Amino acid sequence: MRALVLDRTRGLHMRQVPVPRPKAGEVLIRTAFTGVSSTDRGIYQGAQGSIEANLPIILGHENCGTVAAIGTRSVTLADGGQAAEGDRVAVDPNITCHRCDYCRNGRPELCRHPVVIGVTRGGGMAEYFSAPAEVVYRLPDRLEFLESTAIGPLSCALHGIRCLDLRPNQRALIVGDGFMAQLFAQLLRIQGIFQIDMVGLSETKLARGKALNNLHAVYRSDKRRQTPPRDHYDLVIEAVGVPAAETMAIKACRHGAQVLMFGVGRPDARFTMNAYDIYRKELTIKGSFSNPCSFDDAISLLASARLDIAGLVTHTLSLEQVPDLMSGSIGGVIKAVVAFGD
Ligand SMILES: [Zn+2]
Repeated sequence: MRALVLDRTRGLHMRQVPVPRPKAGEVLIRTAFTGVSSTDRGIYQGAQGSIEANLPIILGHENCGTVAAIGTRSVTLADGGQAAEGDRVAVDPNITCHRCDYCRNGRPELCRHPVVIGVTRGGGMAEYFSAPAEVVYRLPDRLEFLESTAIGPLSCALHGIRCLDLRPNQRALIVGDGFMAQLFAQLLRIQGIFQIDMVGLSETKLARGKALNNLHAVYRSDKRRQTPPRDHYDLVIEAVGVPAAETMAIKACRHGAQVLMFGVGRPDARFTMNAYDIYRKELTIKGSFSNPCSFDDAISLLASARLDIAGLVTHTLSLEQVPDLMSGSIGGVIKAVVAFGD
């Protein structure tokens, strides 16, 4: 089969590799679409990211497709049903051990022995990939494959939203204008949040966010006079992961505000903030990592057609075009997906 293999930092090559053989309890999936995320670009660039990649690796962790083969006579999918060839499915990339202290105590996102499809085992930037059936979810008929590439990212955003106390009478600032920032804007909108503002670097992406989400105001963070107001917001979602954005997120907080630290930064990065502000303003600063117990919710929400994913997919690529995307030759990307065709 054709596969895109990352051998080393910035070393991404098309290869012919054997089709994986699904083990007991696994299914083989013929890839229909895989999303390309900033995590993929981080791994390509050699960043540690959320979990260190096992090179060489076939990237691709936002995967959907059809069941092509089953490892044993019967395997049980995430919904408890038996897998059948031809089932349309999406795959949660995060495989947890079920045995460590975090898994046993309801915090599977903090699992001590995580395995991640497309990061530590082969992913969907190939014609086929295998996955344990427990992370394979059948798709509702009305949910298209293109939208299904957003299930993973949306499930992470839903976990983030669950960490916050949301009320309609809140003013929210989203720091960032990328795909995750745009998903947060859509989620806050359908939660009925009174005012949603966004700050980012790209005029085009901010305009897309404003058009899709009825944003109140957008700010270009590279224009000094356009930074968002300080001491103003009840909710701030940081979806960039660089110190300047984190600093801006904290400064934007009014008394009693909640801040969600969602952006994936560098492990050695630092930003400074005033501890007195946390105390005096009663700030809540919350981290959000991965997507525990939120994959089903993401599927249901996407199937309800209340989010606009197609409006955020700016690039549909072939597998052969992915190296150009990774190297930065393709610009203006909010979300790129790889389509495999029939
Ligand atoms: Zn565990």
